Amino acid sequence: MNSYAIRADAQYSARFFKPADGLDGGVRCELCPHRCLLRGGEAGFCKARTGESGGALPFYGFVSSVAVDPIEKKPLFHYRPGEKIFSLGFVGCNMQCPFCQNWRISQTTDSAVQAFVPEEIVSKATELGLKQIAYTYSEPLIHIEYLAECMTLARERGMANVLVTNGCINDKAAAEIIPLVDAVNVDLKCFSEVNYRKILGGSLSAVKHFIKAASECVHVEVTTLIIPDFNDGAAEADECAGFIASVSNSIPWHISAYYPAYKWDVPPTKAETILEIKKRAGQKLLYCYTGNINDGNPTYCINCGALLIRRGCSYKTEILELVKKNEDGVYYCGRCGTRTAIRY
Ligand code: SF4
Ligand code: SF4
Repeated sequence: MNSYAIRADAQYSARFFKPADGLDGGVRCELCPHRCLLRGGEAGFCKARTGESGGALPFYGFVSSVAVDPIEKKPLFHYRPGEKIFSLGFVGCNMQCPFCQNWRISQTTDSAVQAFVPEEIVSKATELGLKQIAYTYSEPLIHIEYLAECMTLARERGMANVLVTNGCINDKAAAEIIPLVDAVNVDLKCFSEVNYRKILGGSLSAVKHFIKAASECVHVEVTTLIIPDFNDGAAEADECAGFIASVSNSIPWHISAYYPAYKWDVPPTKAETILEIKKRAGQKLLYCYTGNINDGNPTYCINCGALLIRRGCSYKTEILELVKKNEDGVYYCGRCGTRTAIRY
């Protein structure tokens, strides 16, 4: 594990650590379902949190990627469509998906990083004229202390916070971070607890809890990468769609084609598979979109069928029949006046 010098002006309080009974000087991290037992400088499963001095964050403030992205790239299709978003990535992850497309930052802590205190992040976004910040790319929630500081500051400056996460976090931590977030995209990677645990190193039940809890307070979208011979069966896709619909049938579901990455080398998902899953999910969900195939992904008014948003290549987004009617943060159909599920 790389070790970096935390900046002198970066002060943090490590949280979610507790002394571990019967383990002299050891601590338990209670942030996520792994509940790692850590002795001394040992790092947890995520590589980003250690047991040093009762619990330490050796990567506090270290950012592996900084970019300005279209918000559609997160993907978020129903939150501030067409906007650009300041996007930050970190190092480490509390899951180990063998098909991870960002494994160079999620599965190692040796990637190049830059140190930023939260004030610098928010100031940079402000200088660029951006009104939202995304915490994304690897798994942001293992850096929850840093996120909470950035998010609080961003809110104070009138910015929105977008979280892109695997959702694999314990309820107490979820309850603390969700109120600071405005919109979230959660990965629902499959619908098998066994596969979550044995192949991905995560917990399906924690992710389901997170999606439910987030949907009670903030804008939620869900993404599933469809992987041949892993989760591309109709029954499993139906279960994913059924679960999302049980939370709310207006949650957009992004059904994305996989391409080989990291340790997974089966051929890419066929477009027909994605389109078939989308068609079946459309019986349960109002908004299903595809990723990594050329499918257009328009959004129509569910009442009159007006084309609300047209999407093209390279995240090109054209807002057509959408109007802001009240100060309620919701768009309405410009043709028939129906309230849409799209927020600004
Ligand atoms: S956040 Fe990291 S250290 Fe904490 S329990 Fe999860 S994997 Fe372990
Ligand atoms: S949860 Fe996301 S970042 Fe983490 S290993 Fe899986 S795909 Fe990669």
